[in-house]
Amino acid sequence: DDRLSRIASAIRVIPDFPKPGILFQDITTLLLDPVAFKDTIDLFVERYKDKEISVVAGVEARGFIFGPPIALAIGAKFVPMRKPNKLPGPVISEEYSLEYGTDKIEMHVGAVQAGDRALVIDDLIATGGTLLAAISLLERVGAVVAECACVIELAELKGRDRLGDKPLFVLVSP
Ligand code: 5GP
Repeated sequence: DDRLSRIASAIRVIPDFPKPGILFQDITTLLLDPVAFKDTIDLFVERYKDKEISVVAGVEARGFIFGPPIALAIGAKFVPMRKPNKLPGPVISEEYSLEYGTDKIEMHVGAVQAGDRALVIDDLIATGGTLLAAISLLERVGAVVAECACVIELAELKGRDRLGDKPLFVLVSP
């Protein structure tokens, strides 16, 4: 699929961001290319349109860019999974570990119900900790996580293995 090479070329790589030694995959340049951005959304929509997904859960912040157009196109609701203390209503939260310390994501109570079939969207999987926390939040409220999907997989970090038998779909692996 030549859409994939166009998407890969539109992602900019920035060395030493946010700290020395990190090669940051910058998807903002993908958003500047309307053809590549549309191809990205189309590839996800083609995969999920007939999979009976009732909720697309997007992880803050870049899951908020890719998740909503997919949700609209497949007729699912969109639910933001946010950094702590951002959501105004009652939340459930899930803590997860980072290289140094911990982080947390939160979801509004009632946004996802038992029996919902969820797709989790983020821009990138590195160690997989963020997606694992998102899966856990959704499963705690009784949803079934059908799949996780990212634009980019940093395969050498083996995040996919941490997801166990949970399916992961990615477009590009630099
Ligand atoms: P993980 O939890 O899998 O280790 O890290 C994934 C999370 O960190 C995602 O939410 C992703 O947005 C962010 N992240 C880590 N490295 C990068 C990167 O190089 N580029 C972008 N765009 N996001 C990154």
